[in-house]
Amino acid sequence: MTFSQIKFDNRLLNNLPADPETDNFPRQVMQAYSFVFPAQVSKPKLLASTEDLAHNLGFTETDLDSQAFANVVTGNQLIEGMQPYSTCYGGDQFGQWAGQLGDGRAINLGEVATQKLGHQTLQLKGAGPTPYSRTADGLAVLRSSVREFLCSEAMYYLGIPTTRALSLSLTGEYVMRDMFYNGNAQPELGAVVCRVSSSFTRFGSFQLASSRKDLSLLKSLVDHCIVSDYPKICTDKSKLSKQHYIAWFNEVCSRTLTMIIHWQRVGFVHGVMNTDNMSIIGETIDYGPYGWVDDFDLNWTPNTTDAQHRRYRFGKQGEISHWNLYQLANAIFPLINEAKPLEDILNQYPEQYQQQWQQMMCDKLALSSLHEDLALLSDLEKLLSDVETDMTVFYRRLADYPLEQHDKNNTLWQAHFSESYYSEDQLDEDYCLQFSTWLTRYAKAIEQENKSQEI
Ligand code: AMP
Ligand code: MG
Repeated sequence: MTFSQIKFDNRLLNNLPADPETDNFPRQVMQAYSFVFPAQVSKPKLLASTEDLAHNLGFTETDLDSQAFANVVTGNQLIEGMQPYSTCYGGDQFGQWAGQLGDGRAINLGEVATQKLGHQTLQLKGAGPTPYSRTADGLAVLRSSVREFLCSEAMYYLGIPTTRALSLSLTGEYVMRDMFYNGNAQPELGAVVCRVSSSFTRFGSFQLASSRKDLSLLKSLVDHCIVSDYPKICTDKSKLSKQHYIAWFNEVCSRTLTMIIHWQRVGFVHGVMNTDNMSIIGETIDYGPYGWVDDFDLNWTPNTTDAQHRRYRFGKQGEISHWNLYQLANAIFPLINEAKPLEDILNQYPEQYQQQWQQMMCDKLALSSLHEDLALLSDLEKLLSDVETDMTVFYRRLADYPLEQHDKNNTLWQAHFSESYYSEDQLDEDYCLQFSTWLTRYAKAIEQENKSQEI
């Protein structure tokens, strides 16, 4: 028997109010979610799945090999206990309040109650229109789905909080897309990713209820989030107080900060940090125009539609996360009615960012602290920015560099680091001297590190 191990417990549906309308057409929804069925597709075909995740959810080998699995993860078939729905949220897009957005191309199938991972929601991305699709089709193409599948899994294995991907499938349908935004729409292969997280709730979910002055819905959303996703704060909804809400906000800030520091560590640039793409549990979510830094450039963004203002550029992700948390604080304010505790938390954020960024960078450089050289990190960033340097290759080469043999007065280091540079013509004499001096400083810090470890 297939899927006998999969048990659903749809807490969100039980805790939050549903849209009474069940027909599928675009509309404003005043509740937390709408019931909606995935569109039927002609030829579901599984292309890839993540076995470790599948097993932890309770899918067996036989399940994964079955056509029924491909049917389920494209929305053609439901497992007993699934109750498909899309959620309602709003968001600030590029700094402007955009009103209701919602799951326009995402349909949640339900929450699997697992032993190892707690509750995990299965969500199909690209399974057809929902009440939140506005004028769009609710579909996804293979190209963007491969990007989401691969990147979310890569992020997971890089130790970064993220939604995961259970599967990538073809639907058998074609979807029209204007790949180069030049007015030439072409048919592309339609695909669905089944993504997985303990929560897909976004900052924008709270913002929308608050913007509509629906305090009852706002409270239900926060209460549900605390007892379901932050049980360490409180597990009993009837006991929730202002203090719990403040503690929760503090924890959301802390998780968001942790996530952003990880992004900076690996050179991940999200590209669309709108508040509707900010997960309330601090996971990387919505892999759209994201990119990875090649040439180390704090001004770089992978998002061509943001090329002018570069709001979501690499070096600004910390600041933007802070701005987004401000919007969340404003949204939940009516539940607390006191600005100071929220402001205090928000005011600490930049300093905490600085501290955690420094710690992460020290870890990257195998240092426990900067010892006496307080400008070591900022000078490194400047050097990496001044000539086109590949961030990842540079750190790999640095890790292998025989620092104890470094001699500031010769140029032997150049051959070692040459792969990191896009064009060695950019390395003028002055730069070489500065870089070589930096290596000497780094060698000294490592020496002090070793000494302090010997004591
Ligand atoms: P994004 O910036 O990609 O997170 O999308 C912003 C909003 O547009 C969200 O509400 C999405 O659900 C919606 N959206 C994006 N693409 C589509 C699509 N192809 N069909 C329906 N809604 C979409
Ligand atoms: Mg989104």
